[in-house]
Amino acid sequence: MHYSYIPCLSIAGFDPSGGAGIAADIKTFSALGCYASAAITAITSQSTRGVYAMQPLPAEWISRQVLPVVEDLPPAALKIGMTCNREIIRSIAEILRAHPVPFVVLDPVMISSSGHPLMEEDAMKCLTDELLPLCHLVTPNLHELHRLTGQADPVAAAQLLIRRHGARQVLIKGGHREGIPEDILVSEDGEISFTGERITTRNDHGTGCTLSAAIAAYVARGEALPAAIGQAKKFVGQALKAGATIHIGNGHGPLNHFFDPLPLLIKEKL
Ligand code: PLP
Repeated sequence: MHYSYIPCLSIAGFDPSGGAGIAADIKTFSALGCYASAAITAITSQSTRGVYAMQPLPAEWISRQVLPVVEDLPPAALKIGMTCNREIIRSIAEILRAHPVPFVVLDPVMISSSGHPLMEEDAMKCLTDELLPLCHLVTPNLHELHRLTGQADPVAAAQLLIRRHGARQVLIKGGHREGIPEDILVSEDGEISFTGERITTRNDHGTGCTLSAAIAAYVARGEALPAAIGQAKKFVGQALKAGATIHIGNGHGPLNHFFDPLPLLIKEKL
């Protein structure tokens, strides 16, 4: 009998403390029943206490890692995290043009919560000009949205990314309405608002990485984008709650992705 699985790929940075970047993505894909593959853009020196340094890989090592994977186990969805510099961004764009992936989500990581830069200053324009148009969804927080567009109003900034830079859909993370956390999905068709309860925990390292990876996993599993975002937010909330009382490291600990892990989802091939 032939079976098919649900393959998800992450192209992102490596956090040796296991909380953010590729580690968060692999845990998320796996907990949601998808098969995880991953390619590293940069290694970092960090712990739960903060990021100390980052070292991007030579750009040719992006295609050396990704091409054999996309040719052998083509992903149903791709999550792109930390892209670091222009050379790596161009290398990812070139791969995507040659090997289109059905769903690509870009988390435009720029700076760690502890304040360490994770992207070179001059890479911002390259990201919007060359990578954004190849992605189906971009998930900036308010700071990243402002840096990408120079526009103060988040919805206007998201619309600018769509009109001027060819983004397809923008999920604005972390807007607030009367104290209720609100994410807004902006597309040419309008806006959809996602509200959720505020979860206060020190163990929030890798929350953004987990959200974009979970969206990729749910889309790969067959959900339409708005439903995938809703379910991904629920997964992040549950993983934050499940990790809130666990003491891992002495700073901002990770989420607990494995509060209710699925086995690898297998679909019988027709
Ligand atoms: N390290 C890597 C590899 C990341 O991708 C990220 C964020 O995406 C971070 C660190 C920062 O994570 P946080 O802002 O949760 O500290």
